[in-house]
Amino acid sequence: MKISEILKQVKRSISFEFFPPKTPEGEESLFKTIKELEFIKPTFVSVTYGAGGSTRERTIRVVKRIHLQTDLTVMAHQTCIGHTKKEIIEILKEYRNIGVQNILALRGDIPEGQKESFVFPPDGCRYAGELVSLIRENFGDWFSIGVAAYPEGHPESPDLDTDIFYFKKKVDAGADFAITQMFFDNRYFYNFMEKVHKAGINIPVIPGIMPVTNFKQIKKFADMCGASIPKELIEKIQPVADRPEEVEKIGIEYAVKQCEDLLRNGVRGLHFYTLNRSKATIHIYNRIKELI
Ligand code: FAD
Repeated sequence: MKISEILKQVKRSISFEFFPPKTPEGEESLFKTIKELEFIKPTFVSVTYGAGGSTRERTIRVVKRIHLQTDLTVMAHQTCIGHTKKEIIEILKEYRNIGVQNILALRGDIPEGQKESFVFPPDGCRYAGELVSLIRENFGDWFSIGVAAYPEGHPESPDLDTDIFYFKKKVDAGADFAITQMFFDNRYFYNFMEKVHKAGINIPVIPGIMPVTNFKQIKKFADMCGASIPKELIEKIQPVADRPEEVEKIGIEYAVKQCEDLLRNGVRGLHFYTLNRSKATIHIYNRIKELI
């Protein structure tokens, strides 16, 4: 089913993001995680795609398996920077042929150190907005299309207003909803949403939640995507940084408070970056479920 249709029917959505594992053992472990999370009855789940096309086969396989072997609604992430338009259309036809109807249309990160020198495929899409147009031109309304949004601004943008200007272009091209990059201070999200509404963007924007379970790893992700980690959280975690269970406990507690605040402020849903694990997400869900 199309996520755009489901979002019209549910008060709030709950969704989970997975990445396609590299090994058969990793894939089995992912499907165990999916089983463990099924009781939550997520609105949808999504599967990431390597920016340069490195996960093409694996992403398609995992998306197909979720679509064909579970009752879950699945969304395939699709980046454009590593592909020609023809290749993207081929991939999307594979999804259409088995009935997958949801795509998260992304540009993908330009590889480290190539910001100036990166050569985009001559017959490709330079920005996610062009990808959204490509999908609409070739597939009409078959797909419900999601796009990425950045409460703290995308790292390449000169400022938040410019980033929102290009966010609007993605919406005008045909995006149905957006999911945000992780953030740890809700004030960024509320400020962003105020500007988004002023810019005339009216699609649902679902906040992305990253529970901190491994500080080093999350710090690396946050640095890459330009998300700031509040001093308060760093000060709580630093003294126990070498005790993973303590870090996880603090991370879960922080995420619970963050989600409670978002839900009380009327967000349309929560999208959890699960890192293919169920424990933190289940803990958080059990604490916030009354508010959903
Ligand atoms: P765009 O919307 O194209 O924006 C990129 C930059 O260009 C921004 O600074 C924007 O302001 C600017 N811009 C946009 N249009 C124009 C224009 N016409 N002219 C000039 N400037 C413009 N990455 C992956 O590799 N795989 C994934 O599976 C993946 N999943 C993600 C899921 C979510 C929910 C989020 C939030 C991000 C995800 N990413 C993923 C990361 C994403 O690919 C990167 O953040 C990437 O750098 C930008 O992608 P985008 O789709 O936001 O790009």
